[in-house]
Amino acid sequence: SRAAALSAPITDGALADGTKIPLLANLGNPADAADAVALGAEGVGLFRTEFLFLDSKSAPTVADQQKKYTELLRHFAGKKVVVRALDAGADKPLSFLNDAHEENPALGLRGLRALRASEHILHDQLVALAAADAETEAELWVMAPMVSDSEESEYFVNLGRELGLTTVGVMAEVPSLALVADQVFDSADFVSIGTNDLTQYTMAADRMLGSVASFQDPWHPAVLRLVKMLGDAGAAVGKPVGICGEAAADPELAIVLVGLGATSLSMTPAALADVRAALRDVTLDQAKARAARALAARSAAGARAAAAGPVLD
Ligand code: PEP
Ligand code: MG
Repeated sequence: SRAAALSAPITDGALADGTKIPLLANLGNPADAADAVALGAEGVGLFRTEFLFLDSKSAPTVADQQKKYTELLRHFAGKKVVVRALDAGADKPLSFLNDAHEENPALGLRGLRALRASEHILHDQLVALAAADAETEAELWVMAPMVSDSEESEYFVNLGRELGLTTVGVMAEVPSLALVADQVFDSADFVSIGTNDLTQYTMAADRMLGSVASFQDPWHPAVLRLVKMLGDAGAAVGKPVGICGEAAADPELAIVLVGLGATSLSMTPAALADVRAALRDVTLDQAKARAARALAARSAAGARAAAAGPVLD
């Protein structure tokens, strides 16, 4: 409970061998920041800006955005806050940004693609973020949603830098991005893996459709192998690879994701305590051993079982 969380001292996320794994919060509104801090969030790993503007008929102004981003950043002085550029899509329609009439919206003009088609909106958002950053003491990182390849990464990172942002990265949600992860790191300062969409696109199973829900399982070795490709590419150049999809909130899967190379985990704040406790029980070598067993499995259920044992690790 929140009361219990407040009374016990909360330690930072770490493995049994002392390896630090920052545990961050997924947020959609600055009003939720105080609760996240109380639950031990060491920062924000995903701020979904589109939730601020779901009811807006027109694009938000720079001033309106700056106020909201400043309000968020004020809660995290000295801490990392990863803000995502507007992610309009089928599940999160923004009337001023995306076309609700596409036949196959998950594969349509969404995420960074939609922002690029309305570049003034992206421009205003990055200007507002840079202004909020200048006003506050948080460590602001900014990332783009639904990025497909290194050309898109380079475009977003260059634009962010031109507009005054210092740390600019991309989300890994589309398998194509994982397949060219080494190229992406030529421009991106960091990558954050969105396991919800990465699973949807890897398994070709609409995350909103109940009849294919069994395919929407981030434990699937196909998804885990893409995570490993991203982790390896980040480690090769010494750049962070975070996880911000729901998978990070599953304590057993969180261990596997760390074993695959995740350097931080971001989740709904209510999940922080359980993930923190699970990580404390394993060393990095043990996490890697569990990950190796999961990677070799032939199904999501098989990976879950293989990660858990019975092999002594
Ligand atoms: C994801 O796709 O995993 C993600 C974190 O983004 P969203 O759930 O907002 O699409
Ligand atoms: Mg997503």
